[in-house]
Amino acid sequence: MQYTSDSLWLEILETLGETANNDIYLHQVSPQTLDEETFYIAVPSDYTRDEIENRFLSDINQLLAGIISPGCELVISVDTTLAIIPESEKTELETEDIIPVTTGLNPNYVFDNFCVGQSNRICHATAYAASQDLGGEYNPLFIYGGVGLGKTHLLHAIGNCVQDVSPKRKVLYVTSETFMNEYIDSIMNRTSAHGFRSKYRKADLLLIDDIQFLQRKEGTQEEFFNTFNDLYLNSNQIVMTSDRSPSMLENLEERLSSRFEWGMVAEIDKPNFELRLMILKRKCEEQGFDNIPDEVLHYIAEIVTANIRELEGTLVSLKARASLLDEKLTIDLARSVLNDTATLTRSNSRNRIVTAETIQKIVADHFQLQSNDLTSAKRTKGLVYPRQIAMYLCRELTQLSLIDIAEVFNRQNHRTITYACEQIEKQLEDDETKKIIQILTAELT
Ligand code: ADP
Ligand code: MG
Repeated sequence: MQYTSDSLWLEILETLGETANNDIYLHQVSPQTLDEETFYIAVPSDYTRDEIENRFLSDINQLLAGIISPGCELVISVDTTLAIIPESEKTELETEDIIPVTTGLNPNYVFDNFCVGQSNRICHATAYAASQDLGGEYNPLFIYGGVGLGKTHLLHAIGNCVQDVSPKRKVLYVTSETFMNEYIDSIMNRTSAHGFRSKYRKADLLLIDDIQFLQRKEGTQEEFFNTFNDLYLNSNQIVMTSDRSPSMLENLEERLSSRFEWGMVAEIDKPNFELRLMILKRKCEEQGFDNIPDEVLHYIAEIVTANIRELEGTLVSLKARASLLDEKLTIDLARSVLNDTATLTRSNSRNRIVTAETIQKIVADHFQLQSNDLTSAKRTKGLVYPRQIAMYLCRELTQLSLIDIAEVFNRQNHRTITYACEQIEKQLEDDETKKIIQILTAELT
């Protein structure tokens, strides 16, 4: 059979099958000419050429040897004019194939109502800078930190700010879980694959939340990798959040996590007392809580240190409790509602600096263990409980972030710490655990 360059290329795509059909780079190819020895194709960028050479060249050469003649080889040239979509095709693409896109933005999360303190200053500054210079110095921007510290808020704030200033820019906020679900729908042909791709690859600003969710999702990682490259090459801005730093992401392809570090990586940490108080005051203004005494706000800011979601939650539930009881929200009411043990450990902690090492030592002594038993991976019954106690005390008595605490305990994942703290919090209701915490806290402070 006589091949034209076009029919040959189609045949190659067909023979390569599924992988080729889903590959964005192969779809950018424009077949050029063909003779016995060489098949010439053109692509829009060096990057596309490299991708095709790295992943498909040897397969394609093998096919050419079989179809055309032994020794026939593929030669790829770069023609940047291919990157420009002709007007006629453009309108067709835009009208037919784009899923109607909503931005997914929550209008309540803006820079204006984001309080800034030491723990989030850098994150806030880089997020703001990125919003002012899409695709610039801070591309991609990677924000990480523990639960409830304001990552999602900042992500929306960037999007809202860009939308306000330039409504024509395409802004897209998704969680990485949504990204995965839509990707799966598209490969199962429940929605159009082209629609899926153009939705993501046409964004001027892609905000993708909780990227740690992509760990172990190889297929979605691959798709995200392609999306990322496409956006990045076109100088479109990508902002991601995660509960841990790129290097702590497990089961994520190295080529992906290393790209996350190309622009700016910023950590958001637990708020200090001043920031906690500032957030409470702002929340009161927003909610119209105008008769809460300062000492109550101070008290809440002292007690609730873990994260901002919890801080806001405590304020709102205290306020609700007061109106339910038809009482004023006084310091006595606040005290009686909030856990006594927590009060004890947290207020004491302000008097003395306690280190994680001291905590490990005191806890190990108390349970007659070696300090390194607490940091080991052993999961014997006698170890788990003391270790959880030690982790809990680190969170309560030190200024360390969850990630720092995970590190001192040789844990990869700071969720381990969150889990441990939750376990101990549950057990604080029984006298045994409460007593141990009181004794150890007294000893430490
Ligand atoms: P994360 O995504 O890190 O888990 P969120 O962004 O969902 O945390 O924040 C939890 C809650 O705390 C939200 O209601 C958010 O508005 C609020 N919040 C977080 N940081 C701040 C801040 N610096 N100023 C005001 N509110 C904040
Ligand atoms: Mg979040």
